[in-house]
Amino acid sequence: MNKLFRPQTYEELTSILESQTEKYLYYSGGTEVMSDYRQGKIKEKQWIDIKHLPGMMEQSPETIGACVFLNQLTQPAMLAEVAQGIADHTIRNHLTIGGNVCGKLPFREIVLPLLALDAEISIFSDGEIIRVPLKERFDKFLKLQPGELVTGFHFDRTERPYHYKRHTITGSIDYPLMTYLAVRTEQGYFVGLSGYGSIPQFAWFENWDVEEILNSFKAVSNDRGSADYRKKLLEIELEKGAPNEAV
Ligand SMILES: Cc1cc2nc3c(=O)[nH]c(=O)nc-3n(C[C@H](O)[C@H](O)[C@H](O)COP(=O)(O)OP(=O)(O)OC[C@H]3O[C@@H](n4cnc5c(N)ncnc54)[C@H](O)[C@@H]3O)c2cc1C
Repeated sequence: MNKLFRPQTYEELTSILESQTEKYLYYSGGTEVMSDYRQGKIKEKQWIDIKHLPGMMEQSPETIGACVFLNQLTQPAMLAEVAQGIADHTIRNHLTIGGNVCGKLPFREIVLPLLALDAEISIFSDGEIIRVPLKERFDKFLKLQPGELVTGFHFDRTERPYHYKRHTITGSIDYPLMTYLAVRTEQGYFVGLSGYGSIPQFAWFENWDVEEILNSFKAVSNDRGSADYRKKLLEIELEKGAPNEAV
């Protein structure tokens, strides 16, 4: 029989984790979990709903809790715009920022603005909450140890110049053929891509050198489009110029 836990404190969560003899999973918005469950892909019988833990729904000037829904992300503009590109309005009322970063689907589009904003991430790990730069933990996907739980994201919400474009095949509600985000940051120009390869790709550049940027990313060929087509789309975006104008 499946069991659902709904801890209200981290002490309660710790005692639930200590009492587990079987594998368990964290449940946030539940869109991916429920879909996998219905397809018989989920073996874990113990589910832990994390939304009632302190800080999970926080929205303060510097912190966004891991269970904040994509439709609730409003500032800075680049974060809101990337969030609004994902799925449709109804689904975004259930998809959480933490779920997008931690989920199994390869797109993880929200990771792009978070990396550009040099976000830090809070992780509940071994009974305490630690805070580390997101880029230290994100390499292809978010590296979490068994039992670790993302509790929130921290960044400065100051607006920065950016360019964003989401290319799809069938219409706006589709997985991305290429999501492009370019941002002017203190460390140079950030360029992040989702859908372009099999994982999100990103890098910082000192200068806006189209050839150099283009050659830094590896395009994939799949049933959505060829690598050459993706490369051409990226070239077109890059040739529009560097994101230098204020938002
Ligand atoms: C119809 C649909 C369309 C989508 N389209 C896109 C798209 O275009 N672009 C895109 O980038 N993504 C897209 N997604 C992916 C979506 O953002 C992810 O599936 C995301 O995981 C869903 O968030 P959730 O809160 O429902 O996660 P859940 O289903 O609750 O959890 C997903 C996984 O992440 C783990 N997890 C969740 N939160 C945490 C946490 N705080 N700490 C540790 N682990 C955690 C869970 O254990 C589970 O393994 C789409 C999903 C759906 C259902």
